[in-house]
Amino acid sequence: MPLEIGVLRRDGRTDPFFDGAAAGRLAVRHCAACDRWLAPDAACCPGCGIEETGWADASGAGTLVTWTTVHGRPAADGTVPPPALLALVELAEGPWLYTRLTGVDAPREGLPLTAVFEHPGEGEAYLLFRPA
Ligand SMILES: [Zn+2]
Repeated sequence: MPLEIGVLRRDGRTDPFFDGAAAGRLAVRHCAACDRWLAPDAACCPGCGIEETGWADASGAGTLVTWTTVHGRPAADGTVPPPALLALVELAEGPWLYTRLTGVDAPREGLPLTAVFEHPGEGEAYLLFRPA
């Protein structure tokens, strides 16, 4: 069971993001009116103020901005979940996303990353970033 961090929740406004993740695509809000990429949970376009922005598939390329190591609470039987890296990633298109890292042993600012998707047996597919 992965740690419940990551942040975005399916709430109607973010459905295209989760539908994209289920299909292995990184869907990000995109304002066609001013060709600006926005975070998946952006409420409106800061460029032109449009509230109903569309969605487009990002490349999945990004760089590591900053991160923190999150240690899970031990279970009742004493087992301790492995630590997770929670990161802020700048997409090549511009938006910053909170996400989890996988396969990163030595995080550093500017580390090139690429999006990958986990498809658990139960629940939503979710986004991770691994070294590019
Ligand atoms: Zn706009």
